[in-house]
Amino acid sequence: MIPRMRAVIVAGNWKMHTTPDEAGELARTIARRTDVAGVVRVLCPPFVGLQAVRDGLAAEPAGAGVGVGAQNVHHEASGAYTGEVSAPMLLGLATWVIAGHSERRRDAGETDALISRKVARAHEHGLRVILCVGEQLAEREAGRADEVVRAQVQGSLDGIDPAGADAWLTIAYEPVWAIGTGRNARGADAAAMAAVIRETLGTLGFEDAGERIAVLYGGSVSSANIDEFMAEPAIDGALVGGASLKPDEMAAIVARAGLTAQARAGTGRGGGSAGSAGSDAATG
Ligand code: PEP
Repeated sequence: MIPRMRAVIVAGNWKMHTTPDEAGELARTIARRTDVAGVVRVLCPPFVGLQAVRDGLAAEPAGAGVGVGAQNVHHEASGAYTGEVSAPMLLGLATWVIAGHSERRRDAGETDALISRKVARAHEHGLRVILCVGEQLAEREAGRADEVVRAQVQGSLDGIDPAGADAWLTIAYEPVWAIGTGRNARGADAAAMAAVIRETLGTLGFEDAGERIAVLYGGSVSSANIDEFMAEPAIDGALVGGASLKPDEMAAIVARAGLTAQARAGTGRGGGSAGSAGSDAATG
């Protein structure tokens, strides 16, 4: 059974795409095209596009329910950190933040220890966190995927108070080999990893909260494969990169997520994950 409070979430990571003008316009279009009951939508533009996205959503009737997220945050609240952006600076611009994306682990050398400090700082300032974890291809081929992801979850949440974490923490399982490659994981493999993640959360003291924390899949999600993931009861939505820049794709992805949300709430005709309990239709 799917715990009552587990939301269905679709988050778009725009990476280093869109100027502020483009971001505002794209946010409005996506908000209009994805106004589906029961799905929490989050758009994560570049830092410089956050205000434009907020303004764009505020100007759009369907934008009221769309959350805005940053793609990164510094682990300190302020200081001599040239070029960085802190959690308090994001307040008023974003309510969500992505932490530990594999592109930052790769390009900025982010470690689990650093990511845990970002998670803690974001939470301290009231931001909701999407924590990304996922193995490299060589690690999967060596049969080490579970071990690697388990260690990332443990390291990235080191020192985090589990109490009430389901209200602000979401985990995105993003196998590195699937990101931006057009080669997605299989739904069953993503669901198996979601179980590993929840089991790990349990060992960290998250216990029931581990069952209530949403686990998303990310990695080449598109309208063509979203069904495979949303049909898995263990998967609560998607973190979408490339396809989140395309309104047609986002419309189809959120529509499919909406079927799962409705099925969980007992109000829909299907969705492949007909949990008997309701889902959190909260906005971002
Ligand atoms: C991502 O940026 O988190 C991502 C999953 O990208 P893509 O969907 O393009 O693989």
